[in-house]
Amino acid sequence: MPIKEITSTANPIIKEIKALEMRKKRKETGLFLAEGLRTILEGVELNVPLKYLIYHHDQKNRSEVKRAQEHCNLHKGLCLEVNQQVLEKLSHKDNPQSVLGVFEQKFYSLKDLDHLHQKTIVVLEQVRDPGNLGTIIRTIDSVGADAVILIDQCCDPYSIEATRATMGSIFSVPILLCSFAEFADWSKNYKARRKGTLIGTTLQSAKDFREIKPQQLFCLVMGNEQAGLTDKMRDLLDENIKLPMNGRADSLNLSVATGIMLYALLEPWN
Ligand code: SAM
Repeated sequence: MPIKEITSTANPIIKEIKALEMRKKRKETGLFLAEGLRTILEGVELNVPLKYLIYHHDQKNRSEVKRAQEHCNLHKGLCLEVNQQVLEKLSHKDNPQSVLGVFEQKFYSLKDLDHLHQKTIVVLEQVRDPGNLGTIIRTIDSVGADAVILIDQCCDPYSIEATRATMGSIFSVPILLCSFAEFADWSKNYKARRKGTLIGTTLQSAKDFREIKPQQLFCLVMGNEQAGLTDKMRDLLDENIKLPMNGRADSLNLSVATGIMLYALLEPWN
């Protein structure tokens, strides 16, 4: 099994991994860094190709690390046994993890979606906060929804902040990227042939969320943290619902609103 010991933060492989903090590098390589043994094992379990497994040398005899090593080997990856200094360079400053993994990213297309089992899809228009995006991916996994579609300029689901917030669900929730025009085009067929509905969430001229009980496929469409949904997206919606705001706050955090909506809308099906 190819194992390499690295003790210097100046090692070119360590620099290559460190560079994955940049969106540009993640885009070029199609790779991302995941932190923590629990998350790494989720990727292993779901057979996601692992290019580098990085662990503190005192972890090498743990059975879970050995399992991850075998998986890395199967995918022709490289295991890196490193010291604390190297781990600190690569992982979170306040809470450095002793096991890290560099995995391949996976994006689905709208065409794939027609073949995937799909009951509920979350659509995010121009989500900007990686913590919100990661939390929403984790919630989609938790409620048993099927996928997330990211429309237009969104933050990167494979950034370290977003993947950290998914707590491992980054590997199990299909992620799609598309433009508004592509989504609008796809939605015609979704509505006409698959009888799907687009349920949007806004604060203005919307029904109380308890007034609708979807019995068929639906997309829950959530808006940008500052601006909400665009007018062109609102024009595509079949339903428009809100969570009543009863105090002085004028809106909920995007990921909180998504979680409440998902549980409320999926409840009649369970
Ligand atoms: N100023 C924006 C607006 O007027 O839409 C607020 C955006 S809000 C922080 C971000 C997103 O969270 C919204 O686009 C919507 O999808 C969702 N959201 C937040 N609070 C909501 C509520 N009370 N009802 C429905 N959706 C809500």
